[in-house]
Amino acid sequence: MDFFAAGYACEVRGAASDNSHWLPERHSLSARKAAEPHEAICNGQWQISMTKKFRVGILGATGMVGQRFIQLLENHPQFEITALAASDRSQGKKFQEACTWRLSGEIPAFAKEMTVAAPEPPLDCELIFSSLPGDIARESEGAFARAGFPVISNSSAFRMDRDVPLLIPEVNHEHLGLLDTQRAKRAGQQGYIVTNPNCSTIMLALALAPLHHKFGVRRVVATTMQALSGAGYPGVASLAISDNVLPFIEGEEEKIEQETLKILGKFKGQVIEEAPMAVSAQCHRVAVSDGHLAAVRVTLARIAELDELKEAFSLFTALPQELGLHSAPENPIIVREEPDRPQPRLDRDAGSGMSITIGRIQPDKVLDYRFVALSHNTIRGAAGAAILNAELLIATGNLI
Ligand code: NAP
Repeated sequence: MDFFAAGYACEVRGAASDNSHWLPERHSLSARKAAEPHEAICNGQWQISMTKKFRVGILGATGMVGQRFIQLLENHPQFEITALAASDRSQGKKFQEACTWRLSGEIPAFAKEMTVAAPEPPLDCELIFSSLPGDIARESEGAFARAGFPVISNSSAFRMDRDVPLLIPEVNHEHLGLLDTQRAKRAGQQGYIVTNPNCSTIMLALALAPLHHKFGVRRVVATTMQALSGAGYPGVASLAISDNVLPFIEGEEEKIEQETLKILGKFKGQVIEEAPMAVSAQCHRVAVSDGHLAAVRVTLARIAELDELKEAFSLFTALPQELGLHSAPENPIIVREEPDRPQPRLDRDAGSGMSITIGRIQPDKVLDYRFVALSHNTIRGAAGAAILNAELLIATGNLI
């Protein structure tokens, strides 16, 4: 596994099913080394035991992404939810009274009677998953990090900070090296912040990663059609979106254009050197409940055959698959050959919502190639992405 020549070659011993992995010592990216019973040094390597359940708090628990966290973490082997926080509208109420549950099925029983707290430290947990709105996340997430909590955030507040990893475990796990810079730079901050990208950016960067690795990507033009749940709840007014398409999502085009360069960039010891490519994005809100779609065109540095492109997508796997992380899909990218796929309703749940689906892969008359990508915006694009990040933090010794 030499993806992006990260220098994090990883040896996995033992069946993935027993959740026991061996990592070389250099894989430990944290100054917080080791302790019983969660890790032990064996023959110069880290043995990561995943038997402990981390007690987690969800900020923004009543929102679209917060609800997804609660659903995805209900039976998670490594995390249990012990704190829920939201706005003063919800604080002090039982979760089932504060939250209008918008996902299929019932509110998980464990959450119903939990009392919603303020998103301020301390909370009764060891780790924070944040799905707060961007404008308030900076203060709240920063306070938790200063108070010693690892914060794994969905919001845009810290994504482009130079010392904060903007992580997609299949694409840039070596960016976790920024945590050492972050701890050194933010004196007095005992915890740390790791972010996941914007929901459309995750899909785009995951699609581009195997192409960039194999052929080099020089230009990208992406036109998104984004689901309603991406705007949160209540989100876009029904009279604005029924029988309509909205060609503007505030801040979205800039996020895709900037974040992609950081994610695909190279970790250079203390900073990320942005990927040398130009990205142009146009974003649209469409009347689909879940599942963001993007029509993508690319220019490559090296000319590739169509079959090479398809193979690069369909054979792509990376460290999370090698480590058998709980939320890692077997295939991060699924290629569909049917001329009318991917479609949100049919493909958003692929890989339990953690795989992206790519179809319509064709030569393009203006740039080199074009394709259509789809992903579930609140799973791979938000809560599922953050949970996979946390699983990687455990596997790399950053959560102990
Ligand atoms: P949402 O449905 O509007 O939920 C917002 C959550 O934040 C609610 O729990 C709300 O609590 C809480 N909140 C709002 N204002 C607050 C305040 N002043 N103080 C404390 N809590 C406050 O939004 P969402 O779609 O879940 O998105 C949450 C975050 O994830 C945003 O930063 C968004 O950009 C990001 N994100 C969303 C998606 C997606 O597909 N939806 C994907 C990737 C990233 P109350 O219920 O009490 O008001």
